[in-house]
Amino acid sequence: TKGAAMVTAVASRVQAQRKQIDKVLALFHLTREQLLGVRDKMRAELEYGLKKKTHALATVKMLPTYVYGMPDGTEKGKFLALDLGGTNFRVLLVKIRKRSVRMYNKIFAIPLEIMQGTGEELFDHIVQCIADFLDYMGLKGAQLPLGFTFSFPCRQTCIDKGTLVGWTKGFKATDCEGEDVVDMLREAIKRRNEFDLDIVAIVNDTVGTMMTCGYEDPRCEIGLIAGTGSNVCYMEEMRNIELVDGDEGRMCVNTEWGGFGDNGCIDDIRTQYDKEVDEGSLNAGKQRYEKMTSGMYLGEIVRRILIDLTRQGLLFRGQISERLRTRGIFETKFLSQIESDRLALLQVRRILQQLGLDSTCEDSIVVKEVCGAVSRRAAQMCGAGMAAIVEKRREDQGLQHFKVTVGVDGTLYKLHPHFSRILQETVKDLAPQCDVTFMLSEDGSGKGAALITAVAKRLQQLPKD
Ligand code: BGC
Ligand code: MG
Repeated sequence: TKGAAMVTAVASRVQAQRKQIDKVLALFHLTREQLLGVRDKMRAELEYGLKKKTHALATVKMLPTYVYGMPDGTEKGKFLALDLGGTNFRVLLVKIRKRSVRMYNKIFAIPLEIMQGTGEELFDHIVQCIADFLDYMGLKGAQLPLGFTFSFPCRQTCIDKGTLVGWTKGFKATDCEGEDVVDMLREAIKRRNEFDLDIVAIVNDTVGTMMTCGYEDPRCEIGLIAGTGSNVCYMEEMRNIELVDGDEGRMCVNTEWGGFGDNGCIDDIRTQYDKEVDEGSLNAGKQRYEKMTSGMYLGEIVRRILIDLTRQGLLFRGQISERLRTRGIFETKFLSQIESDRLALLQVRRILQQLGLDSTCEDSIVVKEVCGAVSRRAAQMCGAGMAAIVEKRREDQGLQHFKVTVGVDGTLYKLHPHFSRILQETVKDLAPQCDVTFMLSEDGSGKGAALITAVAKRLQQLPKD
């Protein structure tokens, strides 16, 4: 009959649509071989970054941090810390006494026009926020040592100098790249001429995170951030760090692994959507691995896929709304909500509604699948990178088995319902001779910066020989 024919026609159309959707999702599915490939390529890039001969062209920069060891528990005092480059800009007061740490902090907004204005404006704004904080805490005039957590790649020659290699994530202030950001901060303080600060250390957020966990767990010698951006640091043997003289002991290396792939070595797994996200970003061509694995970009990948599926008539009744055209609508917290298993589809639709997207029940299923495919790939790729790090450390120490703790922080790791689990499963699978424990860092950027400042201050005060 006519009715039956129509039902079959609809059914086969639905089937064809499903096929098209699956085809897109399949692009984000990585085989075990592909993940092993990511691990092995990452391993090669780590070595290039460390070696004098290959360093200049290396995409994983392996920056020396001049942090030589962990705090030993004797640290004490009051410190100021700045945390710039994560989800929030914060100023903190950190009190350390007998292994207990107390913190007071204030979050400040950095308006877009300042993030992307001039360097002077950015640092003036930072100093304005410090002034507000000191006023608020009743600390004006107290000359406290300050640790500056600056979550961008910096070339260091000592603990209190750091030349910005290049902005990442949402920042693009002019006249900063190639400059010492500690000098820029000092000059801004001078310009304001209201208080003096003793800037003791500049610290990457990964290093602060490692330090914070190392304070509690002596096995912790790796720091991971899976948040707005993505990065890892770890303790490396001095003899392997060719850029720094001396062969004794160890130093923490900030890998800046976000730049992995910038030479095209993972182009075989990058999709058209990854390329679109890269091209639409503030730093096109750079931080390709970061753009596949971190919170600032996952939502953008999802959005590009949804646009494409809509264009193919597979979603939102084929209508690309103004909202869907808007950059940055899918923040990490929305992805995390959408992927939560406790959420009924109706609630997923409600979240999409909040984002200004009218969805049917079928739409919401597809959106959830897209989010899942993108975040799963991110966690797996991050795990493959981590497998390269722990395997390197195991081999370098000539161990059959290596037990290690990774200090972790970042909104993606903390908020996402599946990211941390998939990351851990992947590391286990790709580095079977390593036993890796992930330890959540409680506020690594603030506490860690203060601990590093305390150690640096102590070393400053030792008589020099
Ligand atoms: C920066 C790193 C930072 C990471 C996490 C990246 O974009 O280059 O220095 O550690 O984000 O915040
Ligand atoms: Mg942070």
